[in-house]
Amino acid sequence: MSEPSLTCDALLRRATVAIAGDSPRLDAELLLSHVTGLSRTSFRAWPDRLLTASEARCFEALVGQRASGHPVAHLLGEQEFWSLPLKVNAATLIPRPDTECLVEAALGLDLPADACVVDLGTGTGAIALALASEKPQWQVFACDAVPSAVELAAENARRLDLPLTVMVSHWFDSLPSRRFDLIVSNPPYIACDDHHLSEGDVRFEPASALVAGEDGLDDIRVIAAASPQWLNPGGWLVVEHGYDQGVGVRELFRAAGLVAVETRRDYGDRDRLTLGRWPG
Ligand code: GLN
Repeated sequence: MSEPSLTCDALLRRATVAIAGDSPRLDAELLLSHVTGLSRTSFRAWPDRLLTASEARCFEALVGQRASGHPVAHLLGEQEFWSLPLKVNAATLIPRPDTECLVEAALGLDLPADACVVDLGTGTGAIALALASEKPQWQVFACDAVPSAVELAAENARRLDLPLTVMVSHWFDSLPSRRFDLIVSNPPYIACDDHHLSEGDVRFEPASALVAGEDGLDDIRVIAAASPQWLNPGGWLVVEHGYDQGVGVRELFRAAGLVAVETRRDYGDRDRLTLGRWPG
């Protein structure tokens, strides 16, 4: 048994080959950091650092799972969003960087200082918690139809010590009867026959968080149509959607009576979210 095979560098090189995919080196570093508690930069600074046999075994087991497709976020049990470390599990969607564009758009709206906000289909709580972290005066509600997602969002709120009222509700169905200044949502928006559903991380995420009928718009249709009954005059609806759904979503927003309807782009410069205001 030759010691050199247990250096960080040797383990990372082997793992990078085994993992393949889009970002094998990054994935390997994240997994090794998880196992050792060491930072990713330390692997560069001290490539010859030796791991114990049990650390190496643990790392190689995770690499094996990653190589067979399991999302890094599920293996780490955590994903960062808006600089917040969020717990994730198989009950819901893994937060994506592009959803930060929705948070940014929401924070840029003209809203009351003590705005009342709801995040529909909150999953990990990502959007709601990002807003709560930026706007301590806002009253932030979040709901999800999946009870284990609600538990996860509540746990994330506790761990981050952020105020969030989370409840089980399928869209507006079981919300307290009141109006909001802002409704945000990253609902399912993938068409049921989309080939992306058999590729990458989405294979390990629940269909309930991804798929919305034949054109992917079933849930946005419901949310947009009902939003006027739940928005204060001057309140905003902001939803994330697919890169090719901008026209369709703008039509749904306008049909519901929303004004100032506008689509914005994500980090990859693709249409990703649409906003609209309820004139009252
Ligand atoms: N953006 C995700 C993806 O394409 C889908 C998220 C969603 O349906 N809300 O993988």
